[in-house]
This record gives sequence, structure tokens and C-alpha cells, in this order.
Amino acid sequence: MSEQVLQNYINGKWVASTTGKFREVPNPATAEILAKVPISSTAELDEAVQLAHKAFQDWRRVPVTKRIQYLFKLKELLEANFEDLAHCITLEHGKILDESRGEMRRTIENVEVACGTPTLMMGDVVEDIAPGIDEMMIRQPLGVTGIISPSNFPAMIAFWFIPYAVATGNTVVIKPSSRVPITMDKLFRVMEEAGFPAGVVNMVHGGSGIVNGMLDHPLIKSISFVGSTEVAKHVYSRGTTNGKRVSAAGGAKNPVLILPDADIGTTTNIMMDSAFGCSGQRCLAASTAIMIGEADKVFIPAFAEAASKRVTGYGIKPEVQMGPVITPEDKKRIEDLIQQGLNEGAEMLVDGRNAVIPGYEKGNFIKPTILTDTPVGGIIATTEVFGPVLGIMHCKTVEEAIKILNDGTYGNMGSIFTHDGSAARKFRNEADAGNIGINIGVAAPMAFFPFSGWKNSFFGDLHGQGKHAIEFFTQTKVVIERWPKEWSRKF
Ligand code: NAD
Repeated sequence: MSEQVLQNYINGKWVASTTGKFREVPNPATAEILAKVPISSTAELDEAVQLAHKAFQDWRRVPVTKRIQYLFKLKELLEANFEDLAHCITLEHGKILDESRGEMRRTIENVEVACGTPTLMMGDVVEDIAPGIDEMMIRQPLGVTGIISPSNFPAMIAFWFIPYAVATGNTVVIKPSSRVPITMDKLFRVMEEAGFPAGVVNMVHGGSGIVNGMLDHPLIKSISFVGSTEVAKHVYSRGTTNGKRVSAAGGAKNPVLILPDADIGTTTNIMMDSAFGCSGQRCLAASTAIMIGEADKVFIPAFAEAASKRVTGYGIKPEVQMGPVITPEDKKRIEDLIQQGLNEGAEMLVDGRNAVIPGYEKGNFIKPTILTDTPVGGIIATTEVFGPVLGIMHCKTVEEAIKILNDGTYGNMGSIFTHDGSAARKFRNEADAGNIGINIGVAAPMAFFPFSGWKNSFFGDLHGQGKHAIEFFTQTKVVIERWPKEWSRKF
């Protein structure tokens, strides 16, 4: 891929930003500069929002059965461009090609689910709530909706929102992560080919200035944000203060309970994929393994062996199992956190620091790292490392482990590995996390279920995907009607 200068997409046209400010987008495995992304101005954002608002007046009147035809076409085009898009995700993010393919599959799944919007956005009617009076609830679109996406899923996360927003009759302005903007550029080219009318989908590149501009813009009626907790809190607070509907997903720390009766092979494979898949840069990464009772005797050596064997390198190569982390700054941040964990008393089991991949010396590589005896309440147990680092803790009982999970500030995912149905049931019932895995390492809800973070992993009421997204992007209107018989003309 040769270096390209990205543009905004406003009202059906590709428009160069006039600020003259850019950020480089490097390939995290090679450090090659792939593109330059503009840091647009709030005036450029305002233009996009005004035109999206204008487009909304017509788009909301397009019958829903016709609106979803654009999504059917989009699904077809995404399938046709599947490999190219997956390849682009790997180039700019670093995750391995199979992980990028998985991301694209879930992206498309959200388009498929939103094709059911005529059924999903149905209202309710009750006849004769009083003599001759009927009452109904209908769902109407909000207007211009703002979407702000993170770096770890350059395609999928925006699609937890876009298909539902447009199918329900809203228009969209998105600000993609400026770390991974190339995939969204390609996705907009695909959406352009799908033929959405001008102004229905718009993209403005930039940084926090554009985010704050979206949060303050009176014509933006809702904000869907996914990113780190600190920014999610800011987005939720500023957006709601300005009267917007806001859904803001934040960071995570995901404990996984390993019981002594868990299946060794399956649990080890799944745990390695969860902790080290996408180099640990998933909000559903298993980041703490809590060994219950004697589980550590078998699982610690099994994890150590599997982690040491994991092949780290450039994600487009078929033999590679784990890619780099996104930036050199993240590599340093992660290595510093590992050191702080050791300073606090954790023991190094597998050390992935100072990784050098021959031929890719400029890449941001850290190999799988496992720390044992990470103290409860310590940095590794409580901070989102967002890198290929698994901390191991020990507990005598499931109750003790559930307490550690529930005392944590995040609530994105909790998992348990066991053959014991009763322990699994207790965990499912008592764990304070919105996405639960039972013998599952990455409990990522399918597109027809909500992506249900809790606590510091989510600020808002309605999550992305499925029925929650339909509710989020529509406001309910209740109509009470009286049509007395005596008013009828006689025909
Ligand atoms: P991030 O918070 O740095 O950035 C997210 C978005 O916010 C980007 O578009 C970015 O440009 C913008 N932004 C960054 N700093 C800002 C600021 N100070 N003011 C206004 N806007 C700002 O997150 P990231 O590094 O891109 O993504 C990784 C994070 O996202 C992790 O914490 C991960 O757990 C989280 N995440 C959560 C979920 C979930 O469903 N809960 C899913 C994916 C990722």
C-alpha cells in the first residue's frame, strides 16, 4: 500500500480537509507510513452535520423497506471486498489476518441483523383503552447521530451502530480513530458504491477537537462512543449535559476463573487465544486468570508452555499467531506496567519484553507475557494493560474469586472454566459483569445481542448491536386517538 492522504466524506463527496494538519498512520509491524489522516476543524465538522441534518429530512421519509435495500447491497459489497478489508485491518492495526477476517465477519453480521429493522422497529397498539379510543406507540428516528470509534477494531465497532442508525431513518457523522482510519476510508467507498443518498453517511477525521465538537453540536442528537474509560466518562458527561442520548463503552479488566476440574487442553487453548489474541488489545481479553484451589498445579505449566510457543510476528504471514501492539508508546506503556507489577511482588513466568522479530526490528512487538502471584488490588490486577499480558492470581474458593471480580471497577466480561454446572450457574448469577463466558474465552455477543458492558466499562442505558441499537436510535411517540362514530359521513 502506498502512502495516501485521506479525505473526509461529506454529503456524498470526498473532500480534502483544509487545516493542513495531519497525523501519520504507520504499519505497527514495519513502521512504514501507510497514510496521512487529516485533523479536521470544527468548521468542517459543522458543514458535515448541517448537510447530514438536511439529508435527514428526506431520509426519514424513505420507507424502511427501501432503506434496508441499501443494507442488502452493502452486505453483498462487503462480502465482495472481504479479503481486501481484512488485509487493510491487519496492515494498519497489526492483528493477524484471521483475526481481521473474524472482525469483518462480525461487521457484516451487524448489517445482516439491521436488515430486520422493519420488524425490529415495530411499535405497539392497544385498541379501546377507553370507549372508542385507541393508543399506540411508534418509533421515530432521532436525527443526526454521532459515532466515535476506537483503534482496536477499525471496522467492526462502527458497525455496532451505523447499520441500525441508518435503517431506522437517522443520518450519521462518524469520527474514526485517527490511529486506524484507512479501513473506514475503504468502508465508506463501499457504502458509496451501495448508493446511500448524499448526506446519509458522513465521515470527518480528526482528534479530540472533533469529538468535543460533536458533543457540543446542537444538531447531533445522539453519540455512540467506544474507547477507554477516561474518555468514555468525558463523552458521557459532556454529551448528556448537552441533552444528547449517549452510549459510551469504556475499558475493561476481565477476570477468568479456572477450576481444578476444567479441561486442560480446551481451557489452555481458549485462554491463550483470549489473553494474547489481537495482542491482548481486545476489550474482552482475558487479562486475569484466577486459579481456584489446585488448578494452578496443572494450568500454570500448561499456560507457560503454550504462551512460550506462540509465534509472534507480522500478521499477514500465515504462520504468525500474534502481531505487534498498536504504537511504540503503547509498547513502552505495557512494558512499564509489567515492571511495576514485578516491583509490587508479582513473579515473571513468561517474559515477552524486549522482543525482536528478525526482519521487523522497527515493529512494536511484545511477546506473550505471564505474571504469577499478582497481588489483589495491585497494578496488574486492576489496570487495563491492553497488551499481551496475563496476570495469574490464586483463590481457595469460587466465592472468593467472584468477590475479587465484583470488587473490580470494570464490568465488561467475566468467564469461568469448569465441568461443574452448579459452580457455572452460581458464577453466571453472581458475577458483576455484563458479558459472561462459561467455558468461553472471549464472550463477544453476536450482533443480535447487546454488547453488554457494566460499571466502568459502560456509561449509558442502551448498548450497541441488535435490539438495543434499534431502541437507542429511535424515540418513542405515544399517540392516543379518538374517532367517534357520529363524526362519520354516511356513504
Ligand atoms: P481511546 O479512548 O484512546 O480513543 C477512542 C476514541 O476517542 C478515538 O476516536 C479517539 O480519537 C478519541 N479520543 C481519544 N482521546 C480523547 C480525548 N481526550 N478527548 C476526546 N476524544 C478522545 O481508545 P483506543 O485506544 O482507541 O481504544 C482502546 C480502548 O477502547 C480500550 O480501553 C478498550 O478496552 C476500549 N474498548 C472498549 C470496548 C467496549 O465495548 N467496552 C470495545 C473496544 C474497545
